[in-house]
Amino acid sequence: MKIVVMKFGGTSVANLSKIRDVAKIVEENSQKNKIVVVLSAMSGVTNQLQSYVEEVSSEPSRETDLVITSGEQVTVGLLSMILNREGVKSLPLLGWQVPIITDENHEKGRILNINNETIYHHFKSNDVIVLTGFQGISVNGVITSLGRGGSDTTAVAIASSLKAVRCDIYTDVEGVYTADPNVEKNAKKINKVSYEEMLEMSSMGAKVLQTRSVELAMKNNLTLQVLSSLTNTEGTYIVNENKLIEKEIVSGVSYSKNESKITISGIPDKPGISAKIFGLMASNNINVDMIVQNISQDGVSANMTFTVLTKDIELAKKTLERNNNELNYTNLSTDSNIAKISVIGMGMMSQSGVAEKMFKTLADKQINILAISTSEIKISVLIDKKYTDLAVKTLHSVYKLDNK
Ligand code: ASP
Ligand code: MG
Repeated sequence: MKIVVMKFGGTSVANLSKIRDVAKIVEENSQKNKIVVVLSAMSGVTNQLQSYVEEVSSEPSRETDLVITSGEQVTVGLLSMILNREGVKSLPLLGWQVPIITDENHEKGRILNINNETIYHHFKSNDVIVLTGFQGISVNGVITSLGRGGSDTTAVAIASSLKAVRCDIYTDVEGVYTADPNVEKNAKKINKVSYEEMLEMSSMGAKVLQTRSVELAMKNNLTLQVLSSLTNTEGTYIVNENKLIEKEIVSGVSYSKNESKITISGIPDKPGISAKIFGLMASNNINVDMIVQNISQDGVSANMTFTVLTKDIELAKKTLERNNNELNYTNLSTDSNIAKISVIGMGMMSQSGVAEKMFKTLADKQINILAISTSEIKISVLIDKKYTDLAVKTLHSVYKLDNK
C-alpha cells in the first residue's frame, strides 16, 4: 500500500471555497495512492482561540489545549464531508482517535508514539483519512497541542511512521525562496535545499515550516516538499544533503527582527562569570542566541553582549538585575532596535572568503556590525533594524541570488 501525506496550512483552508479546492487536489491524488490529509485550522482561528484563553490565563493547561486545538476539528470535518459527497471514501480522525501520544507538556507537547495500526485499519474501507494537525493526547488521556505551527510536525511524524512515499506541505507560497519575496522582489524559488540549510532558515525567520518538523524529517530521512495549493507547480524539496547535486555556497539570505540585545559592562573578568550569567538565563528558560565578550583595556573587567528573543528581554533584564550582588556589573543596557541577518549555504563549508564578502558588503553600505556568529553553514550578523531591507537586498545580489 502506497501512502502519501498531504498537509494543508491555514491559508489553504481559510474558508469553504478554499476547502473545496483542497478537496479537488486530494481527490486527484487519491486515484493513485492512499492519502492521509493533515489540516490546520482556518487561518487566524488559532490566534483568536489563543487570545480567548489568554484573557483568562496565560498558563498552559489542559483547558487551553482543549480550546486552541478545536479549530482543526472544524476543517477536518468539513473537508471529509465534501470528499464523501464527491464520492471519495474519506474518514475524519482527531489526534486522540489515532492516537498520537505526546508527553504531558501543554502547548508544546512532543510526540512519543503514533499508533499507525489505526490508520492501516481504516484504509481497508477508506481511500482518504483526514487528520487534525497540531493535536495530540498525553499518556494520561489529556488533549495536548504541539506548539504553534505544529501541524507540520503532525504531518512529518505521521509520514515517518507510515513510511509514506511523499510528504507534501501545501501553503500559500510556491516554496522556499532565496530571501523573503516581500523584501527582495528578485528572490527566486529554491528547487532543493538540505535539512541543515532549512533548519537554519526556519529558525532564522523564514517561516515556512515549524523548525521541529524539519528536525524530525531529518532524523527520519523523509523528503519533504513545500508547494502551493493555488498553483499546479513543483515546490521546494527538502532533502538529505547527499541528494544535492550541487551544494550552493550561499543558498539564501534571511533575517529575523524578533531578537533584542543586552549589554552588561564592567563585569569582573574571572572564571565562572559566563557560566553564572548563562546559567541564570537557562534556569529561566530564556534562550540565548549570539554572544560576544570583550575584555577591557585594564584587563580586570569585561563586557558581555548577547541576544534573546524580544519577548524574553524584560525577564532577562530583571533576572540579571536581581542577581547583580553576585555578578557585579557596573552597567546594563538593552536594545530592541536590531535585526539579525544571515547567509546560509552548504557550500561554504569548503569555500573561504564568504564571511569576508559579507562584512565588506555591509561596510560599503555603511552598515555597522554589532555582533557576529557563525556555524559551518551560516554566518549571522547583528545590525541596526532600519538597515534590514538594505542588507538583505545587497547581500542577495552580491551572492548572485537575484532572479535575473
Ligand atoms: N493551527 C495551529 C497554529 O496556528 C497549528 C498550525 O497551523 O500548524 O499554530
Ligand atoms: Mg504553518
